[in-house]
Amino acid sequence: MTVLAEPFDVAIVGGGLVGCSLAVALSRQQRRIVLIEAVPSRDAPAVWDERCIALNAASRRILEAIGVWDALEDSAEPILSTHISERGRFGAARFTAEQAGLPALGYNTPLRAINGGLWQRAHAAGVDVRCPARLAGMDTLADRVVLRLQSNPDEAPTSLTARLVVAADGARSAVRDALGLAAETRDYEQSAIVTAIRPKYAHAGVAYERFLPTGPLAVLPKPRDADGHACSLVWTVPTAQLAEFEGLDDEAFLARAMDQFGERLGRFTAVGRRQSYPLSRVMSGQLSAPRTLFVGNAAQSLHPVAAQGFNLGLRDIATLAELLQTQADPGAPSLLAEYVTRRERDRERVADFTDRLVRLFSNTVPGLRGLRHLGLLFLELDTPARDAVLRQNLGLGGPVPAMARAGGRA
Ligand SMILES: Cc1cc2nc3c(=O)[nH]c(=O)nc-3n(C[C@H](O)[C@H](O)[C@H](O)COP(=O)(O)OP(=O)(O)OC[C@H]3O[C@@H](n4cnc5c(N)ncnc54)[C@H](O)[C@@H]3O)c2cc1C
Repeated sequence: MTVLAEPFDVAIVGGGLVGCSLAVALSRQQRRIVLIEAVPSRDAPAVWDERCIALNAASRRILEAIGVWDALEDSAEPILSTHISERGRFGAARFTAEQAGLPALGYNTPLRAINGGLWQRAHAAGVDVRCPARLAGMDTLADRVVLRLQSNPDEAPTSLTARLVVAADGARSAVRDALGLAAETRDYEQSAIVTAIRPKYAHAGVAYERFLPTGPLAVLPKPRDADGHACSLVWTVPTAQLAEFEGLDDEAFLARAMDQFGERLGRFTAVGRRQSYPLSRVMSGQLSAPRTLFVGNAAQSLHPVAAQGFNLGLRDIATLAELLQTQADPGAPSLLAEYVTRRERDRERVADFTDRLVRLFSNTVPGLRGLRHLGLLFLELDTPARDAVLRQNLGLGGPVPAMARAGGRA
C-alpha cells in the first residue's frame, strides 16, 4: 500500500452534484481539499441523462456565491408560476414569481449543464481530484481519518489522510457502510419516467404538477427551446407497471400522458428518449460521526415530487462552507455539532413535507381524496399557508445559510 504525504483538511467522498459543489465552495478558502470520485466519466459525462433539476431561489444564490451560476444561466429556464392540481377534481393551487417578489420561482436546468459547470469550475480552481478512485475503507483516529482508495481492482489500494471526511457519496453511502452506521429506507414502489415532450401550446414559464392516484406527473418548461414549447416530463408510476409503460411506443405513451395530464397545453406532439429511476427515501440515521459529516443524498435521499433533493444538498454544503471559514480544525467536535444543529430542522421539515405529499396523493382511500382537495383549496385561498409553502419551496423557509440570503458571500 502506498502512503501519500499529507493530511488534507477536507476529503470529499463523491463527486456528484453536491460533492463537487462543496469542492468548488471550499476552493475559495485556504484549505487543502481532495475530491474522490469513483466513476471515471463524472467530469465529462458520456452517459445520456435527460433529467433537468428545478433549482430554487436559494440554490441560485448559492451557485452565484460559489461562482458557478454564470456558466449555467444560459441553460436555465425560468419558472414563472406553478400550477398544482389533482386529476378528477376541479380547482388548482397556483404560485407566481410576482407573489414571491422574485424574477422567477426557480430555474429548470439540465443536470448535465450543472455537472459540467461545476467540474469546469473545480478544475479551474485547481481542486485535487482523485478519479477514478473508490473509497474502500477508512479508519478514524483522534486527529485525522485514514481513507483507503481503490483506483483499479487489479492494483493495490492507496491511502490518504484528512482531518475531516465529508460523505457526498449518495444514497448508498460507502462512508456510512464503512462506519457501520444505519439508514432508514422506505421503498415507495414507484419509478419516475423522465423524458422531453412538445405540447401544441407554449408553456409560458408555467410548471405543472398533476396528482394522479398512481403518482404525480410534472410538466416543466424545458431550457434552450427557441419557441418555448418543449417541456420536461417527470411521470411517477408504480414500479409494478413500469414494464408496461416501457413497452408503449411513442404514440401510445404520448396518448397516455395526455389523457392523464389533460388539455391545458393541447396535444403532445413529440417525445424524447425515456429514462426511469426507482424511487425511495433513504435517511441517514445520523448526520455526523467522529471527524465525518454527511451531505446531499448521503444524508437524505428524497422522492423527487417536490424537487428538493439537490436544493437541500446545496444548503448542506453552503452551511458547512460557512462553518469551515472560522474553525482552525475542520474536524473539531464543536464544528460537527454546529453543522448538525443548523441542518437538522431544514432537513426534517423538507423530508417530512415530501414524504407526506407522496403518501397523501398516492392514496386511493375515499376520505383522503376530499382532504386532498381541501388541502389544495386551502393553499389557493389561505395567504399565510400559501406563503409558508412558497418560502419552503424557494429554500428560504428555515435557518438559511448566508450564501442563500440576498447578497450572500462564499
Ligand atoms: C427523477 C429525479 C428528478 C429530480 N429532480 C430534482 C429537482 O428538480 N430538484 C432537486 O433539487 N433535486 C432533484 N432530484 C434529486 C437530485 O438529483 C439529487 O438530490 C442529487 O443529484 C444528489 O446529488 P449527490 O451528489 O448528493 O448524490 P449522487 O448524485 O448520488 O452522487 C454521489 C457520487 O458519489 C460517487 N460515489 C459513490 N460511492 C463512492 C465511493 N465508494 N467512492 C467514491 N465515490 C463514490 C458516485 O459515483 C456519485 O458520483 C431529482 C432526482 C430524481 C431521481
